[in-house]
Amino acid sequence: MSTNENGYRKKDLHFATKAIHAGSEAEQWKSMAVVPPISLSTTFKQYGPADFEQYEYSRSGNPTRTCLQRCLASLDDAKYGLCYSSGLGATTAIVSLLSAGDHMLSVDDIYGGTGRLFRSVAQRFNISTTFAEGVDAEKFCQHLQPNTKLVWVESPTNPLLKVMDIPRIASLIKAYNKDIIFVVDNTFLTSYFQKPLALGADIVVYSATKYLNGHSDVVMGAVTTNNDGYYDRLKFLQNAMGIVPSPFDCYLVLRSLKTLKLRMEQHMKNSLAVAEFLESHPLVEKVMHPGLPSHPQHEVARRVWSGCSGMLSVYVRGGLDETKAFLSALKVITLAESLGGYESLADHPELMTHASVPADVRKQLGITSNLVRLSIGLESVEDLIRDLDQALQAGQKIKKS
Ligand SMILES: *Cc1c(COP(=O)(O)O)cnc(C)c1O
Repeated sequence: MSTNENGYRKKDLHFATKAIHAGSEAEQWKSMAVVPPISLSTTFKQYGPADFEQYEYSRSGNPTRTCLQRCLASLDDAKYGLCYSSGLGATTAIVSLLSAGDHMLSVDDIYGGTGRLFRSVAQRFNISTTFAEGVDAEKFCQHLQPNTKLVWVESPTNPLLKVMDIPRIASLIKAYNKDIIFVVDNTFLTSYFQKPLALGADIVVYSATKYLNGHSDVVMGAVTTNNDGYYDRLKFLQNAMGIVPSPFDCYLVLRSLKTLKLRMEQHMKNSLAVAEFLESHPLVEKVMHPGLPSHPQHEVARRVWSGCSGMLSVYVRGGLDETKAFLSALKVITLAESLGGYESLADHPELMTHASVPADVRKQLGITSNLVRLSIGLESVEDLIRDLDQALQAGQKIKKS
């Protein structure tokens, strides 16, 4: 396997070209529009009953959505792409491939809302889930059962940035039962830094709300796959369950993809600079960034990924009071949920994004009161470092009540 200049897996050399051209060919429009039009019409004229061109009703299919779906498929070198009303909408469609009595195996350290959907919704339809630590692929796959129909992996994990050996997990799953659907949530890395289908996954899922859109102004989900059967069923569910995005949002995400490569490169640079700064800071206990040589799965990341995103997590020195004071003292970085936008965001997983995770599970995972997740944006990195430094100092000055 060849590596790129940073020692990571070789990058997709055609990525930017595909992001700019795939799905946007001018020849598909009578007007020869270079930028795909936003097709707001909910319905499409028929020549005679049930005799129509490509589209009939905008939930079932929409021209702007098709452009985006084709572009997303191309970025993953996939046959098919599908967009949903949100990342969790995409997850809902995937879980709906299963039936009552089926079992799912999931990595334990996953997006809070995904865990909530598995625990509180799927469970009610008698689809059970085992949550297990996924860093050790062999141990993880020991939880496979005869009725396991789907394996769910998020890598890196959220919020602890653990790295999964996706090729290894894929081969263990397929050796156990080749009909198990292997799903990878690739939201944190995007197809620019990780290509799960090439690594053995059957379905890739995205919260396009994050890096794919990258401008924090659209909520959307997406799926890519090479499997004809899964595609047919997921397309059916997109329409049958009504989990579709608006044409305007499709236009915005398609527009955002044009700069995905540039954004991801800069997110990586900025987040590494911040991570290195924080790692040497006396008021920080520990930094988790897969691009740091100190990260326990740094070598796995280099082998499986082409680079890292803007995500890192830190344990700051002190407890809840110091951590809250630190977060409130940030001036450039915004305290808000979500990630992957051009602006830097800070999150307190225990009280914010992962509040729906049961307290004992949070404790076991290491989601403690002094854990902070950072989504490093595209600002001048010197300003981010200065902001973190002053907020850390301010955090230590609080008087405990
Ligand atoms: C945000 C997120 C989701 C859910 O996506 P929505 O668009 O918010 O529904 C799923 N997985 C990961 C890793 C996420 O960060």
